[in-house]
Amino acid sequence: MLNIKCPYCGNRAQKEFAYGGDGTVKRPELNKSVTDQEWNAFVYERKSPRGKHIELWHHISGCRQWFRAQRDTVSHEIFKTVKLDEEI
Ligand SMILES: [Zn+2]
Repeated sequence: MLNIKCPYCGNRAQKEFAYGGDGTVKRPELNKSVTDQEWNAFVYERKSPRGKHIELWHHISGCRQWFRAQRDTVSHEIFKTVKLDEEI
C-alpha cells in the first residue's frame, strides 16, 4: 500500500486521502470577467502527463487539510508534499 506524507500529520496510508486533481491549475481572479473559453479551460481542460506531476490531495480521513504533492504518474513515487501556501 502506498503511504503519503501529510505535511501536517506525517506518513499515513493512502486510504486516508482523496485525490483532488491537477495542482497547477490557477483559478481566474475574483471579480474579473473571463470569456466562456477561459472558464471552460479552467473547469475542464487538464493535461494527463506521464512522469512528474503536481497534484492536490485532501487528507479526508485525518486532519482534513488540502496540500500539494509532487508524484510520478508512472511509478506513483511521491517526491515531496507541501502545504498550499508553500512552494513545491
Ligand atoms: Zn493530515
